[in-house]
Amino acid sequence: MTAVVVIGAGFAGLWAALGAARRLDELGVPAGTVGITVLSAQPFHDIRVRNYEAELSDCRIPLADLLDPVGVAHVATEVTAIDPGARSVATSGGAVFGYDRLVLASGSHVLKPDIPGLREYGFDVDTHDGALALQRHLGKLVGSAPTPGAASVVVVGAGLTGVEAACELPKRLRALFSRGTATPRVILIDRNPAVGSDMGPSARPVIEEALSRNGVETRTAVGVTEVTERGVSLSSGERLEAATVVWCAGMRASSLTEQLPVPRDRLGRVQVDDYLRVVGVPSVFAAGDVAAARMDDEHLSVMSCQHGRPMGRYAGYNVISDLLGEPMLALRIPWYVTVLDLGPAGAVYTEGWDRVVVSTGAAAKATKQTINTRRIYPPLTRDRAELLAAAAPELQARP
Ligand SMILES: Cc1cc2nc3c(=O)[nH]c(=O)nc-3n(C[C@H](O)[C@H](O)[C@H](O)COP(=O)(O)OP(=O)(O)OC[C@H]3O[C@@H](n4cnc5c(N)ncnc54)[C@H](O)[C@@H]3O)c2cc1C
Repeated sequence: MTAVVVIGAGFAGLWAALGAARRLDELGVPAGTVGITVLSAQPFHDIRVRNYEAELSDCRIPLADLLDPVGVAHVATEVTAIDPGARSVATSGGAVFGYDRLVLASGSHVLKPDIPGLREYGFDVDTHDGALALQRHLGKLVGSAPTPGAASVVVVGAGLTGVEAACELPKRLRALFSRGTATPRVILIDRNPAVGSDMGPSARPVIEEALSRNGVETRTAVGVTEVTERGVSLSSGERLEAATVVWCAGMRASSLTEQLPVPRDRLGRVQVDDYLRVVGVPSVFAAGDVAAARMDDEHLSVMSCQHGRPMGRYAGYNVISDLLGEPMLALRIPWYVTVLDLGPAGAVYTEGWDRVVVSTGAAAKATKQTINTRRIYPPLTRDRAELLAAAAPELQARP
């Protein structure tokens, strides 16, 4: 049987696998001719963008519910090596999977630099497991003897993830520590001179106002020099007492990109063409945070589920088309939006690459909730036809 292997089951990998199954179905390829196998570290599709939220029970979907109905095999395993010459991938368990076509969709991870104590005491909201570890840690603090900073959280990195995490935390801490004497405090730190610098001049005042309304303190133009169980030291000399540090600064593509013999950009991504083929590596496609794709004549893809999902769908369509000598589809996305959750202060919705604010407050929050709870979810019905239909290589309209 001809083998298509997809590495990863996030926003790009899941949709690549479903998109490939849909294309096989569309072309009427008899069962047993082409096998699609997803190799993913966890047997789940995680709704990673929601990891900053307090309630995570709806954020992890068993792959069996999504892939079994469409006949896609899945193996929970960590891929450790790719051999593009031999067309095979190796896993930590020692198994080797040969492929005729490969889709690399192993995503990205938050970069934790070599700061003393960070790896030991720092939490993150990068993965479902990371977000659960933070949840458990906060729960333990509530039940422990009060210490200075027990209800204080330092969030490091005032980019999109850091702002969303910081805005959500005050309400969460107030609920957790409602019976004790510790006063909840959230401090957002960034090396840049302003918070939300990624969001541009139009959205920044909205973010600043929301942080202030949520009671989040900020420290800008400072770095973290040490993390301990009880707090952080800053490059300014200030020491903040906080039993919890959440690291949200910096993203890097999965190190599996280093297995391909091609250059990578500053985020560790490999270049792909309009069909999601890795430039310079035959038979290998890439989608999502591992890939830099042209979205229009000026802009490359951003590490985002906004881009990862369509990249996955098109990679799935194209990997089968390429394998079977059928026409492929070029991916270009003519619009770009950002919807940033600002906790109880609402959200901010921007349009365009200059990120011009279109709506704020409750209106933007309603859009964010639609995205986070409906728009980015696959069908949860285990219905083959619905799953295949959802994987069509079509661009969604703006939210
Ligand atoms: C808290 C948070 C909020 C965010 N908010 C937004 C937002 O509002 N809007 C937006 O567009 N984006 C947002 N993002 C970014 C978005 O989550 C990512 O860009 C998106 O998840 C990328 O999709 P992906 O499929 O490339 O990678 P991922 O979703 O990270 O999936 C990677 C997959 O690969 C698997 N994997 C990794 N390494 C291996 C290996 N070695 N072997 C086997 N499997 C492996 C993982 O288990 C996973 O299944 C947010 C991210 C975070 C952390």
